[in-house]
Amino acid sequence: MTKKPFNAPPCAAGCAAAQMELFAAPAVTPAAPAESAEFDFDAHDVVIVGDSGGKDSGATVHEVCTRADKAGQLHKVRVLHCDLGRTAKGHLVEWPGALEVARAHAKQYGVPFAVRRSKRWNSLWERILAHGNWPGFFARFCTSDLKTVEGRNFVDETGVELNLGRPIRAGYAMGMRAEESRARAKKPVIERNRMSGKGTLRVVTTWLPVHELTTEQVWQTHRENGIEHHEAYDQGMRRLSCRACPLAHTDDLVRSAQLNPELFAEYAEAEAEMGHPFKKSITLKAIIERARS
Ligand code: SF4
Repeated sequence: MTKKPFNAPPCAAGCAAAQMELFAAPAVTPAAPAESAEFDFDAHDVVIVGDSGGKDSGATVHEVCTRADKAGQLHKVRVLHCDLGRTAKGHLVEWPGALEVARAHAKQYGVPFAVRRSKRWNSLWERILAHGNWPGFFARFCTSDLKTVEGRNFVDETGVELNLGRPIRAGYAMGMRAEESRARAKKPVIERNRMSGKGTLRVVTTWLPVHELTTEQVWQTHRENGIEHHEAYDQGMRRLSCRACPLAHTDDLVRSAQLNPELFAEYAEAEAEMGHPFKKSITLKAIIERARS
């Protein structure tokens, strides 16, 4: 990982796909749109920032901490990294060093850092094999089972720790940006979560502080503030989180296969065993062939 200002390649999301559905479980009450695009720190007990170690996460930690500090509320901010574990052969599912970059983001702004991993699934790899198929746009169990659940648990855990005597009111900040897709462009910057309604134990307000930033502005934020970024970006990757993500652009997967040949070989073996292509448009076998050519 590195911290110096740099000329980074244009980049897409970190694990925006994962962040997108956070807390968006079956509605208990209809979503309540935010009345204002300004996040109200006073109305929340804690603000948790989901940090994958990617560039959008780094910019999000910066935005949240800077605004919290101005409001005299920095003590409410915590950074959470969800660890996705290892494959059967011991390869990290995420980019090695992603956790350390997320930790550096928290350290830079002097806020607590936490790492959580699913108690049910030892790793995303184990979850994929149990499912017998890869995650996809319409089967994002990777997110729901290994990130969303852990985010919710962390909110509840924080509530117990704060011993409030009432349900916790938590902000949950994510690095999703409008530029990434039409669906994401429509997402409200601040939204009372659908699970926050009457009868639930927690009130969660999701917040997208870098929603309006372009990719270049995200990198500019990094350069101007000396924010740590993962070295994979310097090696040509445009997104981070899982090294092999079926939702990633094929060009990024080809580059990742060049940088992570052993991991991709293991994934390709699983692809052959499960009998399902990694992406509808291309198999891992073909991605590896392109990586070698
Ligand atoms: S496979 Fe990994 S990077 Fe891709 S959407 Fe799922 S959790 Fe995110």
